[in-house]
Amino acid sequence: MPKLYIVPTPIGNLEDMTFRAVRILKEADLILAEDTRTSSVLMKRYEITTRMEPHHKFNEHRTIEKVAERIEAGLNIALISDAGTPGISDPGFLLARICRDRGIEVETLPGPTAFVPALVNSALPMDRFCFEGFLPLKKGRQTKFRELSTEERTMIFYESPYRLVKTLTQMAEYFSEERIACVSRELTKIHEENRRGTLGELIAWYTASEPKGEIVLVVAGCDHK
Ligand code: SAM
Repeated sequence: MPKLYIVPTPIGNLEDMTFRAVRILKEADLILAEDTRTSSVLMKRYEITTRMEPHHKFNEHRTIEKVAERIEAGLNIALISDAGTPGISDPGFLLARICRDRGIEVETLPGPTAFVPALVNSALPMDRFCFEGFLPLKKGRQTKFRELSTEERTMIFYESPYRLVKTLTQMAEYFSEERIACVSRELTKIHEENRRGTLGELIAWYTASEPKGEIVLVVAGCDHK
């Protein structure tokens, strides 16, 4: 039975590919990649010669139906994103949903994603947590902070280095300066950093030394002691 395979790829360290991910990408009839140029580095490293076509947020609405038809016609298709697990703050949801609606099997491989190592590194409660991805930039941002101010579970956010201090400052306003948080920067890369502290301490630190690179922000829930 042909399938849609959803294949996680490294978030910075190319060694984080699994043997199965490499095999599935080699055996697939077609790889859908967010940016074929970015993914060509990975393909070269693992000698994967499968044809790639672009699948990103700008074309996925138009192409998912055709992709589903190609799987129904017998192609095994693998979906990857630039980094991490497709569907996690990346294209993937629409394709997975249309496949499910049409009775096409979807098989997702376990593998890299940025929020899991960030959560575990934070040493904040990880038995219950909520993944919030990117916060709204304008509309709905204040409402979101208000809603989250009573969230008891550990919260996980994806954030850009340019907005980190602004986000920490707004969180301090809504959640208090004493709330514990952890900034994970450049996970799996040479300059990986996991910095824990109160929101107040993190604001002071990142105001003095401008953050660079990719960031996951993990924040304690409201009843954390
Ligand atoms: N699909 C990816 C995943 O499974 O984690 C997420 C893709 S999203 C477009 C990119 C965001 O993920 C970055 O802005 C950053 O917040 C986070 N991220 C990705 N790689 C990271 C890394 N190596 N270190 C820290 N955060 C990372």
